[in-house]
Amino acid sequence: MKQKDKNTNKTNKINLICFDCNMPLSNWDKFLNKKYPNTLGYILCSSCQKKREDKLIKSLAKSIASDLDFYDFKQKGDK
Ligand SMILES: [Zn+2]
Repeated sequence: MKQKDKNTNKTNKINLICFDCNMPLSNWDKFLNKKYPNTLGYILCSSCQKKREDKLIKSLAKSIASDLDFYDFKQKGDK
């Protein structure tokens, strides 16, 4: 029977699981991961990836805002 060989090939497929929520990735997320592999060393589903991005943007905005405060302060101090 050649049918069995096909089945064993199928089980070789790696089940991708999100690093943050431990949920198996959807086909769309798998597709994205294949197309745009990240350099983090782990896999995230699109919703967790978005959560991390939001966090990153918030902390980035915070650091930029404090940088601007500092710049403003320095400018005033120079005068
Ligand atoms: Zn996730």
